[in-house]
Order: sequence, then structure tokens, then C-alpha cells
Amino acid sequence: MAPAPLKHRLKLAVREVWARLLWHTPLWRLADRLAPPRLVILAGHAIGGGAEASSPAGLAAEMVISRAALGQLVNELKRRHTFHTVSGGLAVLEGTASPARRGGVALSFDDGYRDNAELLPELVASWGVPATVYLESAPLEAPGERRVNWYHRLTWLEERLGSGEVARCLAGSGDAPAVAAHFADGHGAAPGELKRVLKYDEEPANVESAIEQLFQGEGGDGQALARELYMDWDGARALSAAGVELGGHTVTHPVMSQLTPEDCAREASECRGRIQAEVPGDEVRSFAYPFGRCWDWTAQAAQAVARAGFANAVTTHAGANLAGSESLALKRWALSSETQLHLIAAEACGGFELLRKLGLDLSE
Ligand SMILES: [Zn+2]
Repeated sequence: MAPAPLKHRLKLAVREVWARLLWHTPLWRLADRLAPPRLVILAGHAIGGGAEASSPAGLAAEMVISRAALGQLVNELKRRHTFHTVSGGLAVLEGTASPARRGGVALSFDDGYRDNAELLPELVASWGVPATVYLESAPLEAPGERRVNWYHRLTWLEERLGSGEVARCLAGSGDAPAVAAHFADGHGAAPGELKRVLKYDEEPANVESAIEQLFQGEGGDGQALARELYMDWDGARALSAAGVELGGHTVTHPVMSQLTPEDCAREASECRGRIQAEVPGDEVRSFAYPFGRCWDWTAQAAQAVARAGFANAVTTHAGANLAGSESLALKRWALSSETQLHLIAAEACGGFELLRKLGLDLSE
């Protein structure tokens, strides 16, 4: 890998020093007082690592945070800040709920993995903090009807055949013209390259049919894969009963920027409808864009989300959310076992926000 440009390395060094200073000294209290009230949303996927935790098999390492690392993060942050659900934290920012402290933190988890349902009810009770879980609805459905998205079927295929062979099979299938064109010169698939072509260059309908055909051909069992990775509606109800906010994350986890307006609307509204039908209780107000980078969703997707009845939506760009932040483009800090507490703490105490006011954004 080429070394990072000097400017970037300098930025990382400043960020490191500033964050450590805030973390290890009482300076954080001053930042907290000077910076505007804020909500820092943390974005995880699966929780793993404990002996008793179900194994989040087939998930990339950056999608898993160990139970121990998560516990340490929560316990350290809650000494300085108040934890909310995403909706609850936004209500505090909007002034419709009373703030406990100026810096709020929300824990969120995407997709609806099985370990969330098995571990979070007990964890949130023992930590005394709430959380928000964004559910993709299709994998949670009843046996025989549950479906796992193409991304997980592709990962399953890559684990068995290797990316190069999967790319070769898809290219030769006649169902994936963009893959065929991309790999026409015979070069092998670098890590992540095939996924990228499928996400952004191939038509969504082609991706679905080409992957499904190969998955079936290799003896893949979509029901078993969904059961292995995801919770079911009973699990979602258990989370809700434990005080966890449930949000939407579409039906099939598409790249929303690649969809027609009709499909975008259907993915948002059907997902919300399924959660509200299966989990009685609070209205579903929060949404997370699948993949969440600014090129993964568009104004059209945001509009579909709002029309479906969601009041807020989160991305995967790092930063703090303030009163008046765009409610359909909220920022989140990624959580994994690599997550560094002092960086999140610097954002939570408003330390990065103060520098943003001076024109220096250190969050990404
Ligand atoms: Zn997701």
C-alpha cells in the first residue's frame, strides 16, 4: 500500500494527540461545556468473542466487536456521557426530551444478527444503557420464507471457491455482464473487487439471479444461512421487550442508490411495515441506509425513507450530530474490535466539534 500523503499523516497525528489529551486530562470537561450539545451514534454489527456468544460465522472481522471490548467502551463512556436510543438522543437534541448531560451517545447495530437478540437484552440490562438495532426484514421471516441477501450468499461462495473462481463463474454465467466485462482481461479478483463490481456496476436484478444460480449450484441453503446469521421475529420481540429501539434497514439490503424510485420506496416502506406488524409497541422511527456511504444512497432514497414514515436515518460517515443536523443524513462512528475508545470519547465530549468550528475535521 502506498504511504498516506503527508497532509493526511499530519492530520492523523494531530487527531491522536488531541484525542489522548482530552481522554487523559480534565480538558474534556471544558470541551464538553464549550461545544454544542451533541449525539454521537456508534455503529456495530455483530457481538462476538465471549465463550457463550454464538459464533458470528461468515462475517468479516470489521463487522464484529467482542463482548469484552464493547463492555469496556460502554462502561468508560457512560462515566462521562448519557446513553440514549437513536430516537431518544435526537429528541434530547431537538429539545423535546430533557438532557442529562451535553454529550449523548447511542449504541446501534445493523442488520439483525442472531447474537444481537441472544446477547443484547442481558447486556443492556447489565450496563444500564439502551440501544437501537436496525433490522433487514427478509432474513427474519418465518421458516421457508426467510431470505438472506446476495452479499452473504456471495461471502459463502467466496469462502468455498475463492473470489477468483466466483468471478470466473459469474462472468461465464451470461447473467452478469458487468462482471464479465470487468474481468474480461483474465485478471484475478483482488479482495473486495468482485463485491464492488456487483454493488456498483451490475444491475441489481442481474446480481440477484447470477448469485442465486451459483449459490444453488454449489449446494447453498439460503434458509440455513439466514438461520445461522440472523435473529427471527421472536428475537426482535425479545429485544423490543428489553427496551431496545428497533429501526429499519430495508427488506433485502440493496445499494439504494442503484434502485429505481419504485424499488427504493418498496424497500423502505415494506421493511417498516413488517417490523410494525411483527413487533407490537412503539412506532418505528429510525432507519439505516444499507452500506451507508454517501454514494450508497441518494436524495431519492432519503425521500422514500421519509415517505415510508421514518423520522431519521443514519449513514456510516463519522461525526457528531447536533441540533439542526440533517435528520435523514446522520453520522455514526463504526464499532469493531479495532475501535479506539479515545477517538470516540473525543467526539462525544465535543472535542472534534470544537476543531470543526475552526475548519479542521478530524473524524475521518
Ligand atoms: Zn447493513
